[in-house]
Amino acid sequence: SSKEYGGNNYRFFNNSMNSLLEEKVNLERMLHSALANEEFLVYYQPQIDLRTGQIFGAEALIRWEHPHQGMIPPDQFVPIAEETGLIGPIGDWVLRTACFQAKRWNREHEHPIRIAVNLSVKQLINGDIVSSVSKALHETGLDPNLLELELTESIFMQDAKFMVSTLNELKKLGVRISIDDFGTGYSSLAYLKDYPIDSLKVDRTFVHNLLNNKKNTAIVSAVITLARRLGIRSVAEGIENAEQLNFLEMEGCDLAQGYYFSRPLSEDQMNDLLGHSSVSAFQWVCS
Ligand code: C2E
Ligand code: MG
Ligand code: MG
Ligand code: MG
Repeated sequence: SSKEYGGNNYRFFNNSMNSLLEEKVNLERMLHSALANEEFLVYYQPQIDLRTGQIFGAEALIRWEHPHQGMIPPDQFVPIAEETGLIGPIGDWVLRTACFQAKRWNREHEHPIRIAVNLSVKQLINGDIVSSVSKALHETGLDPNLLELELTESIFMQDAKFMVSTLNELKKLGVRISIDDFGTGYSSLAYLKDYPIDSLKVDRTFVHNLLNNKKNTAIVSAVITLARRLGIRSVAEGIENAEQLNFLEMEGCDLAQGYYFSRPLSEDQMNDLLGHSSVSAFQWVCS
């Protein structure tokens, strides 16, 4: 919820605003106009198939290119969008943009390229997420199998009946469901039995310091094993060096993403990368 982010997370906002309410009203207005003026961008971070070394797909990550403040990262405006309800229309825009892009890549490349899109729990409880996703798929013609929705463990804190039935409806569309930042939230392993989940994303706080911290090593190894035994995919995020990669490969992790392979890329950069890697195995682009 918004509370955990605190009021002073609005870092890009200038100090002359005298009340929090005024600040929020203003931010809401700014987000509205950002949407209308097309100031949002989607960046794409490659996900690597560790068995083949090839690009498996990409995670869509929203950016706000503010005319005066420059590039604003999602941590600084997604919580406000959630709080004001604007995450609905903004999230719909991300879904459509990412699906459109993925459809283009899949027209141009022979091997399938998946797209992962982050959803806020607010989008699942306030809006009609099933029709939003269904619309994005129909409007872009993207094969539903190529779309993965990344949700956090916060979905487990909602009404279970409602959430399970929503996820099942999403599954009926043919999309995949992934649990992002796995292990950092309010998870109980029992949820993995009842919810239709296709992959677990090991949080990057466990991957960071992976080899210097025996507890992190144990946790990462356990999550990868858990996923394999459940018959679902394991994804590791935040890989920054070869040592981490070697460990993950040894443990049999399925997919990986992180600065070691590539930072999140603009649409053009991602197009270039895919253009150069369609035949040969992916060459890491550390930028
Ligand atoms: P996330 O979904 O867990 O995304 C991974 C974050 O880790 C991204 O930050 C990515 O840039 C960063 N990252 C990737 N590789 C590395 C690495 O090797 N080292 C380090 N230190 N960081 C790495 P970003 O793009 O700032 O996004 C932050 C969060 O904002 C995301 O976390 C996600 O929760 C949220 N977010 C991003 N885009 C959207 C969106 O379209 N909708 C919603 N609802 N949330 C979004
Ligand atoms: Mg994510
Ligand atoms: Mg994550
Ligand atoms: Mg994260």
